[in-house]
Amino acid sequence: MQPLMTLLAELSTIDAHLDELQEDLGDLPKEVKDCERTVKTRTALAEETQQLLSELLAFRANAHIMLQEIKDKEAQYTEQQFQVRNNREFDAITKEIESLREERNRIIEEQRTSAVKEDNIRQILTQQQQDLADAQELLSDKEKELDELSSGHNNEMKSLMSRRVELSKTIDALPLADYERIRTFHLEAAVPLRKNCCSGCFSAVPAQKIVEIRNNPNKLFLCEHCGRILFPEDMKQV
Ligand SMILES: [Zn+2]
Repeated sequence: MQPLMTLLAELSTIDAHLDELQEDLGDLPKEVKDCERTVKTRTALAEETQQLLSELLAFRANAHIMLQEIKDKEAQYTEQQFQVRNNREFDAITKEIESLREERNRIIEEQRTSAVKEDNIRQILTQQQQDLADAQELLSDKEKELDELSSGHNNEMKSLMSRRVELSKTIDALPLADYERIRTFHLEAAVPLRKNCCSGCFSAVPAQKIVEIRNNPNKLFLCEHCGRILFPEDMKQV
């Protein structure tokens, strides 16, 4: 049976290692989520721009037909104006003709500016598609990283956890409870002495206590300053 200090030291090493593994994964899952959100947003943006472009091209393709239709209607109204029976009818037709002319001017103006508009939209679209591709690349990198890390970590974590369970069974309930309690304050609950100091908080440990720690490997000694469990510097750690 190994002395208590050795067991606690190993437990502390295992916990530190588990913490580290957890920390490694730490931001990655969140980063993957963030990347997914970015890809989604950028996809929507590019789609919106693509839609604008399609509408613009459709307008350009149809503009001459719309203009011809307006011209035909205008001719029709002009003819009708000669056959009116009163002022009211004349005014009504005049209004129709005016609104047709407005519509025609609007279409002509839009036609005139559509080439510049198309250039702008295409430029924006190219940039948005590039941004999207960048985001997709980053996402797939992060996903890959997370996958690799998790699968490697899973095996390591499993073996550390099972060793921890084994170890917990060999440590008496009281010191184990002390250890767990200290771990709620300090991630490293058991630390070695270093140059006669607690290596957790770096405060000096009295020489008499160091001698006691060396001579009583089955007793629990706490740092008077930070409350961590102390074990000798040269003790063999697993
Ligand atoms: Zn300390």
